[in-house]
Amino acid sequence: MTKSFRTLDDVDVKGKRVLLRVDLNVPTDNGRVTDATRLERVAPTIIEISSKGGKVILLAHFGRPKGRDVKESLKPVAAALSEVIKKPVGFADDCIGEAAEKAVGAMKDGDILCLENTRFHKEEEKNDPAFVGELAKLGDIWVNDAFSAAHRAHASTEGLGHKLPAYAGRTMQAELDALGKALEAPTKPVIAIIGGAKVSTKIDLLENLVSKVDALVIGGGMANTFLHAQGVGVGKSLAEKDLAATALRIMEKAEAANCAIILPVDAVVAYHFAANSPSHAYGLDAIPAEGMILDVGPQSIARIHAAIDDAATLVWNGPLGAFEMTPFDRGTMVSARHAAERTKAKKLISVAGGGDTVAALNQAGVAGDFSYVSTAGGAFLEWMEGKPLPGVEVLKIR
Ligand code: AMP
Repeated sequence: MTKSFRTLDDVDVKGKRVLLRVDLNVPTDNGRVTDATRLERVAPTIIEISSKGGKVILLAHFGRPKGRDVKESLKPVAAALSEVIKKPVGFADDCIGEAAEKAVGAMKDGDILCLENTRFHKEEEKNDPAFVGELAKLGDIWVNDAFSAAHRAHASTEGLGHKLPAYAGRTMQAELDALGKALEAPTKPVIAIIGGAKVSTKIDLLENLVSKVDALVIGGGMANTFLHAQGVGVGKSLAEKDLAATALRIMEKAEAANCAIILPVDAVVAYHFAANSPSHAYGLDAIPAEGMILDVGPQSIARIHAAIDDAATLVWNGPLGAFEMTPFDRGTMVSARHAAERTKAKKLISVAGGGDTVAALNQAGVAGDFSYVSTAGGAFLEWMEGKPLPGVEVLKIR
């Protein structure tokens, strides 16, 4: 496949001031980083530019501050990053103006500098041209390595791409390659598994997928809405009954596009929304009126596994049941392990993403066995909805 965006292979960074947009939004507790996964993800790009003699100037937002707020300073994160990459990381108290200019001016080739939280300036989220200009003064090129922020057209995630030569960093490149293989130019047949609580949050996503994939498994609470729309009694289950018409419309669209919709054929039902509450599997014609569907049943799991076996590519978002509570995690856990086995056997390309999905794959112990797991959250969902991501669009070669 021809590359549609420039990468670090297309530029000599030696001696250049590289404005590198990264995702440093790590969880912290009292200023201490509690999970360094995101720092590990951006490390390769930072190290590569630095070792090639580029001056690495890190740009990132942190939290949702309203103006300058020390609680949301990137200073402790820069220190944690330094530990992860085992190199010194300098820090400037502002991302524009004198503090930033002085710090950048003092950099030597290969140095790494982190600028303060871009969101300390309200102009960041407004993509304000004057603010973009201030940032652009600090660099010779702009490298975007923050796919997770690419659904936002902010100054540091998009605006800079119009001002400076723009390149994808290695993390961005890996994400775009993996996602491209999953939906844009996939090995067919393609199956999508979509679960989670509600149809209402995933209508655009379902509508986009039915025109792209060969089979769509619908599980989780949202399956109840589809079952209800087809006249199945779902008792006291979570279901958005007012969305029955939407569910039917999606099913019609799927049929017209030759996409098989795979809904549960049985369900695990309990009477309390609580871990270990007594439960039982029922066929769809026998869901108790007082019961709640909390997971897909054993026959549904077998169908999902057969569908995975028929597929060459899998895209997954959302759990098949209330996976935070045993035993209602079973459908999600065993299906995740099945997909992981198929991937390890080289029979399947598997891409998964979204906050709960990553948590579920970790819980199943198989996140590392999928072909690609996106931690991007909102950007991953917008990509699944088929929406253009501003921070990616601006990287495209025009
Ligand atoms: P989402 O954020 O839309 O992916 O939804 C994830 C949430 O859906 C998780 O917290 C699950 O516990 C919940 N969920 C999945 N299946 C069900 C179900 N059958 N009933 C209630 N909640 C569910």
